[in-house]
Amino acid sequence: MSKKIGLFWLRDDFRLIKNYGLIEATINHDQVVVFYLYKKDNYKNQEAQKWWLFKSLSNFRKQLNNFNITLEIVETNSFKIFFDKLVKKNDFTIYWNKVYEPDYLKFDNYLSSSLKDNNIHHNRFKGNALNEIDEIKKSDGTPFKVFTPFWRTAEKYYIEKIPSKEKIIKKCKKKANYFNNCIEPEKILPKKNWFKNFEKIWIPDEQNAIKELQNFIKEKINNYSEGRNFPNIVGTSKLSPFIKFGQLHVETVWSECSKKKSKTVGTSKFLAEIGWREFNHSLINHFPYMLKNNYSKKFDKFPWKKNNKLLIAWKKGLTGYPIVDAGMRELYSTGWMHNRVRMIVGSFLVKHLLIDWKEGEKYFRNCLLDYSPASNVAGWQWVAGCGADAAPYFRIFNPILQGEKFDKEGEYVKKWVPELKNLSKKFIHKPWEFNDGKFKLGRDYPYPIVIHEDARAKALNAFKEI
Ligand SMILES: Cc1cc2nc3c(=O)[nH]c(=O)nc-3n(C[C@H](O)[C@H](O)[C@H](O)COP(=O)(O)OP(=O)(O)OC[C@H]3O[C@@H](n4cnc5c(N)ncnc54)[C@H](O)[C@@H]3O)c2cc1C
Repeated sequence: MSKKIGLFWLRDDFRLIKNYGLIEATINHDQVVVFYLYKKDNYKNQEAQKWWLFKSLSNFRKQLNNFNITLEIVETNSFKIFFDKLVKKNDFTIYWNKVYEPDYLKFDNYLSSSLKDNNIHHNRFKGNALNEIDEIKKSDGTPFKVFTPFWRTAEKYYIEKIPSKEKIIKKCKKKANYFNNCIEPEKILPKKNWFKNFEKIWIPDEQNAIKELQNFIKEKINNYSEGRNFPNIVGTSKLSPFIKFGQLHVETVWSECSKKKSKTVGTSKFLAEIGWREFNHSLINHFPYMLKNNYSKKFDKFPWKKNNKLLIAWKKGLTGYPIVDAGMRELYSTGWMHNRVRMIVGSFLVKHLLIDWKEGEKYFRNCLLDYSPASNVAGWQWVAGCGADAAPYFRIFNPILQGEKFDKEGEYVKKWVPELKNLSKKFIHKPWEFNDGKFKLGRDYPYPIVIHEDARAKALNAFKEI
């Protein structure tokens, strides 16, 4: 047992189960302080996530308190400046878990060598992934660029790994404080309180994440392959923000699924989605330029259009295409959007409006509670056709047919676009054909901002240019 205090640098790990760094700190030290470094700039365009972060910090603080662990929040403009000062104090041992993003991993290396130079004991642990990035490569040592062989290899590798004995968190002897000038979680909340609605929907803590996972496995997973396509029902787990903030480790997702006696197609399909998350993390680490630019360089010449009016109509859910508008309003109201609809609204922005996917990526970043650089950038590039293993650009989603296929009765649309609630299923996805004398297009609901067939032709022409 070390006499020094144990510090745990909390990043996306708001959990006790499988929090490898924190658990080790409690095993090795009588006193442990968990600290969160709040760097305002990192959250500049992530307004919705400020709410989830605020809640996570508040709830995790209570959870840690039961183990005599303090959670301190320190505001900083730069991790480097913060740690350069901290390493001067040689009275602690520090632990943290990896975040699989190139900037974090790069900083980890800097921090490790700086701690080493100052003779400070430190330990870095596995983060929220099934496998480490470098563990999954093609037989020639190069990274996978296609999902199916990636997941086949990754799944096999994970199953064959010999699990180490699972350790659990230990209650510390007594509580301690370490940092000065700490801030309270409330300071992180966004100024504009549109997040009030989130409070009715989400409970961002670990116990709730586990409960939601177990309910999903019990009630929904068998029908997941089918149910996941329909936005009018809850057919998916809605666990993405919990996974992003680490309230849930993906190994826990895996192990809870494995407890199920009869493995169905639904279970393997669900785990394959966790596989997409792993794939995306692998991609951004092997090809970090894709975080800001097209993965496929030929798209650098794509003739994107700048049109603020169309972009605003898209953001506000006023495009005149009901399924697109429903999705954009669901996003703003709940901080989450169904995957099928993410693909439809994404395709509409880049193909019907010819607006650069980066604009969509930025807006999602600001509004999604589950925003993660890997999955957002990869998701957008998949939709735009410029990503690795992406949907081909020339496959253009028809928002009318998508609506008719995946929201047959129009229930999803009616929930989010109530001005269309009196339209029958025949017109719900093409309100411009409806006329009952009372409903007036242009007054009660917008005219379509582009005509599908024209937009499709223009998109295909633009694609020909590259
Ligand atoms: C344009 C676009 C942007 C996206 N941005 C994000 C993002 O910022 N953060 C994010 O977590 N997901 C993103 N996704 C992927 C996907 O839409 C969400 O993960 C999913 O809708 C979350 O809902 P769920 O938890 O009910 O998923 P489920 O269907 O229950 O899946 C379980 C888990 O698997 C992971 N997952 C599911 N689908 C995908 C996928 N296609 N790619 C990667 N991981 C997946 C998530 O962690 C999810 O919680 C994006 C997809 C698109 C098309």
